[in-house]
Amino acid sequence: MPATVLVVEDELKIRDLIRRYLEHDGLAVLTTGSGTEGLTMLATQSVDLIVLDLNLPDISGETIAAEVRSRSVIPILMLTAKSTEADRIRGLELGADDYLTKPFSPRELVLRVQAVLRRSRASTGETATSSFGEGTLVIDEDRHDLVVRGQGIELTPTEWVLMLALTGAPGRVFSRAELINRVRGYEFDGYERTVDSHVKNLRRKIESDPHEPTIVETVLGAGYRLGIRRDR
Ligand code: CA
Repeated sequence: MPATVLVVEDELKIRDLIRRYLEHDGLAVLTTGSGTEGLTMLATQSVDLIVLDLNLPDISGETIAAEVRSRSVIPILMLTAKSTEADRIRGLELGADDYLTKPFSPRELVLRVQAVLRRSRASTGETATSSFGEGTLVIDEDRHDLVVRGQGIELTPTEWVLMLALTGAPGRVFSRAELINRVRGYEFDGYERTVDSHVKNLRRKIESDPHEPTIVETVLGAGYRLGIRRDR
């Protein structure tokens, strides 16, 4: 399962930017601009990490962090406009696992989120491994490992992002344009037929018969989908 990140940030532009980057990285993202709603979402949904703005219009980030810490160990990455050492120490004292001072680079945020998730998984003994098709395909998001029929597969960065997208939503059809969006930023020229050639290479590596693919299926006129189910 991809990790779920809850983003509590009242500035719409920053919130959307964070969502885009985290989703591009293969994470599931919930967002809200309200601290109250954030606490409700935490109580009702499964969340693996919180990106929390310190300065919110309804409840302060400090109060939310204290509330979260009083009942759970969900890691918190704080976003703060305050940059003095005293404020930073205060944030960490309130139970934040890490913090970023605005303005921040979204790429930096993604790296911090990954690092905090890795630490938290390591401490709870969880792994980021998902298995599909009764063990036919096993993907480890943290270690960037793909194993198909017991064989480790070497993927290019583009192929890796395609696999992350498809395994993130088994059975869902992804259009070529959508897949281009996922891999933008890697070595991609943005043409839809480029997706086809990456899929062709990917199939050569993972399908037992690349001409009759069962893992990465073509949906005529629509795109591609993962043809095997997630194992429970
Ligand atoms: Ca704010």
